[in-house]
Amino acid sequence: AYLDRAEAAEKNINAFITLDREGALAGAKEVDRKIAAGELKSPIAGVPVAIKANMCIEGKLTSCASHILDNFYPTYTSTAVEKLLEAGAVNLGSTNMDEFAMGSTSETSYFGPTHNPWDLDRVPGGSSGGSAAAVAANECAVALGSDTGGSIRQPASFCGITGIKPTYGRVSRYGLIAYGSSLDQIGPLGKDVTDCATILEIISGKDLKDSTSVGVNAGEDTADERMKTDFTSALKADVKGMKIGVPKDYFLEGIDEDVKKAVLAAADRLKELGAEVEEFDLGMVEYAIPAYYIIACAEASSNLERFDGVKYGYRTKDYNDLHEMYKKTRSEGFGPEVKRRIMLGSFVLSSGYYDAYYVKALRVKALIKKAFDKAFEKYDVILGPVAPTTALKCGESLSDPIKMYLGDVYTVAINLAGIPGISLPCGYDKNGLPIGLQLLGQTFEEKKIIRAAYTFE
Ligand code: GLN
Repeated sequence: AYLDRAEAAEKNINAFITLDREGALAGAKEVDRKIAAGELKSPIAGVPVAIKANMCIEGKLTSCASHILDNFYPTYTSTAVEKLLEAGAVNLGSTNMDEFAMGSTSETSYFGPTHNPWDLDRVPGGSSGGSAAAVAANECAVALGSDTGGSIRQPASFCGITGIKPTYGRVSRYGLIAYGSSLDQIGPLGKDVTDCATILEIISGKDLKDSTSVGVNAGEDTADERMKTDFTSALKADVKGMKIGVPKDYFLEGIDEDVKKAVLAAADRLKELGAEVEEFDLGMVEYAIPAYYIIACAEASSNLERFDGVKYGYRTKDYNDLHEMYKKTRSEGFGPEVKRRIMLGSFVLSSGYYDAYYVKALRVKALIKKAFDKAFEKYDVILGPVAPTTALKCGESLSDPIKMYLGDVYTVAINLAGIPGISLPCGYDKNGLPIGLQLLGQTFEEKKIIRAAYTFE
């Protein structure tokens, strides 16, 4: 049923780069066999999922929505996807995204833009716009996305669904094609908090193949409550006594009035239900975007060096020597936004500028983490908007990248601090477009934000 629905919807939405009917049906058959044989007991056995096109799956096109990887069929599967498949999920295909996850609109894909199911003239957000649109349009039940500076939370908000960006290290990045390695996290996008918590529980845990991953795997024991990955145990509608901080700095200039109203109404609702809600000054907010774009681009310029026409993917047709081959392959293989970021990143890492830009940005990153630490001494959860606006019109930000970067004001600091965040729907604007609410927690305190979010379910 999901495949039929997806095939019909794709003409308008373009959420998938590859929709794999044959592979999905074979996967479903195998799940059936395992269930019949008593080999599989799982809450997601047979559930149709979709995977963002930047997570490697053995033998399946993993393109990162780029020309340079449009013939790349990995020889191994990323840990998060492997865990989902082992739990009996059925993969319907790879979802569209901004090229190499660089963007907020899913318009920079080599495979054409994704459209927002709520209004086809609008973007679904990005970079996990394909995953969000696929869930919102009932083309799959849940999807995986990745979030470097908002790429799970912002498309979830634009498409009226729920998404979780876990604590850095909670989910293994093994097999995730890197954008900004110190910021990247894989997480779930789903119809509600219950679906997202269920998926997060399955994909998180320590993985020996990713040295930055932490914690234990589901079912393993630990004395440290924060390391436990039993996120579904937090699905309780009880916020009595919970301390919730609302940063005043998140509601100043640039925020759409409807967004502001809906988010503050959600804060009031939590108060009615017994939470202690208080406004406070978070600080550092205006430095988040410049610090993020310096660090993310620096890491991207280094991570994307490997795409040179030798080891992976596309290679230019005509060349006289090695250098010309590199140059033509990369010029033809990458799109304009990716090139812009590689240039920016190479610049801030170059000798003479490294201290002035890159090292300074790292200092700002540390101060941002400090500001959050201070807030979490007082509050269990921080509440704010996901984005200053609802879904933008298609094409609006393509011509003005700075404007697009500014739209990330409420999401990027979370990645710089490494803390978890959840995005969930909290109302509609005057055009009937969904508005997103963001709840943030201290590192490894996903359960608190899941609990607070569940009160809205
Ligand atoms: N919009 C941000 C960027 O363009 C975040 C992207 C992401 O989280 N992958 O970098």
